[in-house]
Amino acid sequence: MTVVDARAPASPPTPEECEHPAPVRGVMAHEFATYQGAMGPEGKRRTVTHYGPVLGGLPIEAWHCELCGLLRLTFPDGRVEERRLFPGPQPGLLAVPSAYDPDAVGYGMQARVSGLSAPAELMAALLPPPAPAGPNVIERVAAALPPLGAVTWATVILLAATCIGLLLAGYLAVYDYQTSSVEGPLVIAVGCCFAAAVGVQILSVVQRHYFPMPPLRPSVAVTMRERPRLDPATRIMVALMGLVATGLLLAGILAVYTYSTPAAEHPLVIGIIVCFGAAMVVKIVDATTRHFLR
Ligand SMILES: [Zn+2]
Repeated sequence: MTVVDARAPASPPTPEECEHPAPVRGVMAHEFATYQGAMGPEGKRRTVTHYGPVLGGLPIEAWHCELCGLLRLTFPDGRVEERRLFPGPQPGLLAVPSAYDPDAVGYGMQARVSGLSAPAELMAALLPPPAPAGPNVIERVAAALPPLGAVTWATVILLAATCIGLLLAGYLAVYDYQTSSVEGPLVIAVGCCFAAAVGVQILSVVQRHYFPMPPLRPSVAVTMRERPRLDPATRIMVALMGLVATGLLLAGILAVYTYSTPAAEHPLVIGIIVCFGAAMVVKIVDATTRHFLR
């Protein structure tokens, strides 16, 4: 009695009766019989099968059913071909499209598909789109100084100056086997620095004793940090007062820069007065309106 396993037929189906359950998709070069382990009906293939004319090194879109051996090729120019290969898996026949050669990553990001150059459309599909260029942000380099008080900083700087001065004084005292003439003033300066450091600390203690300072609340500018919300009248007044300040500066420069007052001084001063008066009027009218409308 012979047991026939229905799931494993003795001979593979022909492409006509096959349902192509799991086709392999990828890209292919023109010569495809040189790949590792190419199997034909006669065994391992040794000859190169050349498919069609050379199309300028473009990759061929390939579809292969390993069950029946049907190979469908879509050429870059739109032509479609079908070939029948020996049924069974053909490892290495089709290549997975890649923007770089996975076997030779060290050579760089060459555009290679099966050793061929890829067209622009394929590269666009393979490579992620370039990130949109954001605004040029200049990062502020923040110097991370420890949060010490002014007194401590003064002491640190004075003691550092003392250290440098002492080192310098030591070198000057010995470097040519006789004491240099600048040694005296240098030592006096070093002593002054050290005395100042001590004095700063003593004065700080005295000040803290007689004028104890409670910790300050954060300022309004810190707690309510946002854009100022101004009504139109205030905005107009700020703009006018800005004009007044600019005009005053200009008038001051004009009044003295040639040691004689130019003719432009008079209309400028009139303009400044008009701006100032307008600012006052705007604010007074605004305040009066708010007073009576409330
Ligand atoms: Zn098939």
